[in-house]
Amino acid sequence: MSRSTSTSSSSRQEGPGGLWDSVKKAAFVIGSGILFLAAFGNSLTWHLQRFWGASGDFWQKLWTKLYLAFEGHDTALFCLGTMLMPTLVFWASNGLLLLVDTTGKPSFITRYRIQVDKNNPVDPAKLRQALRCVLFNQVFISGPMVVAVYYLMTWTGNPFGSELPTFHWALTELAVFAIIEEILFYYTHRLFHHPNLYKHYHKQHHEWTAPIGVVSIYAHPLEHVISNTLPVVIGPVIMGSHLATTTLWYCLALISTNISHCGYHLPFLPSPEFHDFHHLRFNQCYGVFGVLDRLHGTDTKFRQTKQYERHVLLTSLTPLTESIPDTPKKGQ
Ligand SMILES: [Zn+2]
Ligand SMILES: [Zn+2]
Repeated sequence: MSRSTSTSSSSRQEGPGGLWDSVKKAAFVIGSGILFLAAFGNSLTWHLQRFWGASGDFWQKLWTKLYLAFEGHDTALFCLGTMLMPTLVFWASNGLLLLVDTTGKPSFITRYRIQVDKNNPVDPAKLRQALRCVLFNQVFISGPMVVAVYYLMTWTGNPFGSELPTFHWALTELAVFAIIEEILFYYTHRLFHHPNLYKHYHKQHHEWTAPIGVVSIYAHPLEHVISNTLPVVIGPVIMGSHLATTTLWYCLALISTNISHCGYHLPFLPSPEFHDFHHLRFNQCYGVFGVLDRLHGTDTKFRQTKQYERHVLLTSLTPLTESIPDTPKKGQ
């Protein structure tokens, strides 16, 4: 594969504070996500309370209602929260993205495409094959794994506690889950890049050098177990979490991986540049937040690129490929 040695950007200096810088960035990402959730959670609660004329603790009342409706059917309630809800969230977000990918419209979204000339529109045969694999993974891998998680979680905690955890505790747990995911995803993912494992298990996921949302769980079944599912489900097992927190976490994790793969750097959404670059270059950017990549130096090439300069929260409507254009390539 021809690879242009990027001479593009600034001469960023790798100071000793590099890792600390990255930790701060990750803390900022997790922190602002949690702040957003806190603010959004409060206003959502307010609107719902007004809508239903409910008073008091809206979420607690909702949970009590749900809990009583499912009384004696804990397994069904668990499936609703850990299978049905996350699956709906996955397909709702990917449904919208697929409309854009298959039609190449509307242009006010496609103008945010990261790899400008790719998937325009997406190859239907390649997409069908990916969809078959994704459905297989959801039904035959994620499904049975969630059943195993049910037994583990009822062993380590009580996911069906009549009282919801406090909002602050739920946020603390989410931060812990995110850290666990970063660690497990980084090392298992890097392991799958070992030449002996790569060709058998991880090559499939990398068939998409310009990924789209649904490709987030387009992977060999073994990879889907070890790298996609375990790093996400293990947090709530360790923490003995409530079903409500677990459902919220699974949905957030799926939305986050869909965004990482979607191929569009949209305004006011987390930047997908980091993982998009992993698909483009294979041997950079293995983690989720980038802290461990900084620690192990697996982001050094990335940090010399335009993609790195664009790896920010886009707060205007101008696509970053326009505000930070590629430098014209020489001799390639
Ligand atoms: Zn990927
Ligand atoms: Zn990879």
